Amino acid sequence: MRGTVTDILDGKTAIVTGASSGLGLHFARLLASKGASVVLAARRREALDVACAEIQGNGGKARAISLDVTDAVSVTSAFAALESAPDIVVNNAGVADNQPALEMEAATWDRVVDTNLKGAFLVSQAVARKLRAAGKSGSIVNIASITGLRPAGNLAAYAASKAGLVHLTKTLALEWARHGIRVNALCPGYIETDINRDFFASEAGQVLVKRIPQRRLGKPEELDGALLLFASEAGSYITGATLAADGGHLVSSL
Ligand code: NAD
Repeated sequence: MRGTVTDILDGKTAIVTGASSGLGLHFARLLASKGASVVLAARRREALDVACAEIQGNGGKARAISLDVTDAVSVTSAFAALESAPDIVVNNAGVADNQPALEMEAATWDRVVDTNLKGAFLVSQAVARKLRAAGKSGSIVNIASITGLRPAGNLAAYAASKAGLVHLTKTLALEWARHGIRVNALCPGYIETDINRDFFASEAGQVLVKRIPQRRLGKPEELDGALLLFASEAGSYITGATLAADGGHLVSSL
């Protein structure tokens, strides 16, 4: 309409898991800046409250809820506490563990797979049930990884969980298309965040960066286009898709 400025997510509600730091916090800020009312969900309530205050200070709408994605009871009660079904869900909560498969304890496998794969399933199921009950459509964006598409050493549990997440994305897209729920996977390559900045500044990290065709790490904001495509009506006919944002890492030379 002439004279009216609207943001692409005006009137939408979104929930981002693992929003207390890193990419999750970035995605929460992004969705709020595009007009969505955002629920930041993670285990560390204090960090979430600080993030919400910052988003509100910038004119955005944000609130925090405590959520452990590995715990079915925590997921059920978190979604019961939401007054309405969110239009957008970003399954971002994730953990990694870098060690040789021969040395990996079963508990490590469980922690990584429970968070990255079971957690995304539990949250997706909870939101889909809520959307169905309300007769609403929605968009689920799973934050997978390029290691879910091509292996990397010392990441057996992580890479398997992310490959599982890519396939879960496709099966849920198939099952839930009839309910108007789209499910897509964003596969970031190496993105610089507080958690890996020191490693990538090291010699070993620099060797890894040289194997990326663009010869550099990605920045969190370089995921924005892909996330907004999946989350918004711009992607209304896209479901079951997997999109890598990786500086060409997946097509690096053998
Ligand atoms: P991060 O450690 O900063 O963020 C992970 C977030 O998940 C944290 O806020 C953490 O508290 C939360 N979390 C962990 N376990 C949880 C649980 N049980 N319940 C709720 N929240 C939980 O790391 P990040 O780099 O920002 O990663 C975010 C996502 O992006 C992860 O899924 C990760 O696998 C994926 N990813 C990151 C990169 C990268 O280069 N940074 C690349 C590919 C994929």
